[in-house]
Amino acid sequence: MSAAPRSTAAGTPEIREQVALAPRTTLGVGGPARWLVEAREEADVAAALAWARARGCAVRVLGGGSNLLVADAGVDALVIHVALRGVETRPAGAAIDVTAAAGEPWDDLVRLTVERGWAGLECLSGIPGLVGATPIQNVGAYGQEVSETVVRVRALDTVSGRVETLAGSDCGFAYRNSAFKRREPGRFVVLAVTYRLRPGGAPTLRYADVERHLAARGVAAPTLDDVRASVLEIRRSKSMVLDDPADPNRRSCGSFFLNPVVPAADAQAVLERAGDAAMPRWPQPDGLVKLSAAWLIERAGFRRGHDAGAVALSTRHALAIVARDGARARDVAALARHIQDTVHARLGVRLTPEPVFWGDP
Ligand SMILES: Cc1cc2nc3c(=O)[nH]c(=O)nc-3n(C[C@H](O)[C@H](O)[C@H](O)COP(=O)(O)OP(=O)(O)OC[C@H]3O[C@@H](n4cnc5c(N)ncnc54)[C@H](O)[C@@H]3O)c2cc1C
Repeated sequence: MSAAPRSTAAGTPEIREQVALAPRTTLGVGGPARWLVEAREEADVAAALAWARARGCAVRVLGGGSNLLVADAGVDALVIHVALRGVETRPAGAAIDVTAAAGEPWDDLVRLTVERGWAGLECLSGIPGLVGATPIQNVGAYGQEVSETVVRVRALDTVSGRVETLAGSDCGFAYRNSAFKRREPGRFVVLAVTYRLRPGGAPTLRYADVERHLAARGVAAPTLDDVRASVLEIRRSKSMVLDDPADPNRRSCGSFFLNPVVPAADAQAVLERAGDAAMPRWPQPDGLVKLSAAWLIERAGFRRGHDAGAVALSTRHALAIVARDGARARDVAALARHIQDTVHARLGVRLTPEPVFWGDP
């Protein structure tokens, strides 16, 4: 699919034309990038931005493609694939600061920190994608979010052209959200992230499923490694780890919808429409209430494995839309819209997609 490399000026990384994006995403659908560049050095990112600016073309940043729905028409932009590598560690008092380049595979970093006995990322085991995307949606799972450990984000500001170091407290982290995603999407290219971890620290145990799993394994005083093993097993049982090429639920971007966070009165109205006092709901410190998108989808009448032709709901998780052979981005988007409309009509709450859409699928 990719055309011959385009020759570039000395010092500018190779920019290729019409590069297929589907194989670079976990859903495996969508059209090509008008241009694509592999940025292996920080200077490559700056050079790519200058190249795009000179031609007046848009820029998109690609990590592992695990939270992306690319339109069938592709993207008329220069896609910068962030392939920066490297991990550095530095003591920070009793803690340790681990700085990883944006192109480091996320789960390799988690494994390394667990092996070293550094607490803080263990519950985030098995999440696909690269380090650079973790601050974008404040990646979280099983009772942990990266916002708890991110102390610095090194990023290139595409507006000023300068490299900035943002403190974790300036990143505007919220549930699956951040200033990078909310305020000015695409403005910052994340180059590296620093996580502050606790050497010898106890693992985080805030999630009933993990505690139950550990208890079932007979683990009374879990280590970081025990928690990582339980999280990976639970995730595998839901097809939420991408290590089995034969898994028919493999082609997804994980949870397709966010858990809605609504005012208490709206949560009560949803509960009344659902007619089930057991509806899962979690009051938040700010008075809002978080609902379970998966529960709402099932309550609205969708079963796991719901078949919509080239796409389906995962047989193991109602929140994951799975692409099959021949699926197009528009099939994924159509099922997503159908689910949104049905949940809204039956229960009065509109689900918001979690993945980022490139173009209009
Ligand atoms: C099976 C499965 C399970 C998942 N489970 C979870 C989970 O438990 N919790 C969770 O939070 N997420 C989960 N996800 C979603 C996804 O893995 C995460 O959001 C991940 O952080 C995305 O990383 P990526 O490198 O693939 O980003 P991409 O999909 O490539 O990009 C996602 C967004 O981030 C931007 N971006 C990527 N890299 C950079 C960068 N360096 N600088 C600036 N912007 C950038 C992109 O432009 C895009 O807007 C899951 C996905 C799958 C497929």
